Amino acid sequence: MTIRTALIATTLLASAPAFAAEVNVYSHRQPELIAPLTEAFTAKTGIDVNVAFMDKGLVERLKAEGDRSPADVILTVDISRIVEAVDAGVTQPIETDTLKSNVPAIYHDPQNHWWGLTTRARVVYASRETVADGEITTYEDLADPKWKGRICTRSGTNAYMIGLTSAYLAHHGAEETKAWLQGLKDNLARKPQGNDRAQVKAIWAGECDISLGNTYYMGKMLADEEQKQWADSVRLEFPVFEGHGTHVNISGVALTKSAKNTDEATQFIEFLTSPQAQEIYAEANSEYPIAPGTAPSELVSSWGSFEPDDLNLMTIAGARAEALRLTEEVDYDG
Ligand code: FE
Repeated sequence: MTIRTALIATTLLASAPAFAAEVNVYSHRQPELIAPLTEAFTAKTGIDVNVAFMDKGLVERLKAEGDRSPADVILTVDISRIVEAVDAGVTQPIETDTLKSNVPAIYHDPQNHWWGLTTRARVVYASRETVADGEITTYEDLADPKWKGRICTRSGTNAYMIGLTSAYLAHHGAEETKAWLQGLKDNLARKPQGNDRAQVKAIWAGECDISLGNTYYMGKMLADEEQKQWADSVRLEFPVFEGHGTHVNISGVALTKSAKNTDEATQFIEFLTSPQAQEIYAEANSEYPIAPGTAPSELVSSWGSFEPDDLNLMTIAGARAEALRLTEEVDYDG
């Protein structure tokens, strides 16, 4: 299905008439997530949006296509993927007053290559049965021996885990981060395995009491017939870094280096950062909008509120290599 969707999208890109005002998008994000936005944008501006969905290989494809690439805009999630695109040289800076007023400074690239659209927090999923309200309040606390044999996580080298460890590193330095990783590892109920949702399933099954997961998976599980019971067995707790806030990552947008429809792409990127579009986008994937004056959906709000960490995401991206090295040093997955 993925391949077929990509083929259809590619055909659309290739066959779009040259005279029409249009913008071409390569997206890591699923088509159903962005359809409401592209439709609203076209209705407002008359500019057509052609979306090619790709699960993997977005950056490789842009590199291979070079100047001939039809893509004007890329849509993706996670700072590590965004920085991967910037480092590969397939993006170019874009800066307008609208973008600057819609997107808080910590959620865009100081060099203006990428702009954040929504955030997701990486939080604790806690058993409703065995973990008391407020029993876990900080990330630091995850290494406390009181959690021995009670925590489940996915692989420590997964991008979401490395993002959290990178933030820990930025706050505490290498020595303390290594000790934290070792403490967390010592508290695991089982070897790291599975994805974020598999950890919640393990809580439901009684294998552990808390896990780490991105917030939007709560929404995904609640919408799934089989997984709803996993979601119902847990509560979200929003830990903070001591004296700071809750770790967040972003979904973001960038202008490609090869962009031909620059004016249309600029309008589209500005539209995506608008409060109204962010709220639609955030609701579709149970994320948090970031523009001033915006609010998450009712469902997402019902999970609780939090203060996001104050680190610039580029600081997190910059700590990535060392976070990976420390994770391997403590043999987190072993
Ligand atoms: Fe995810």
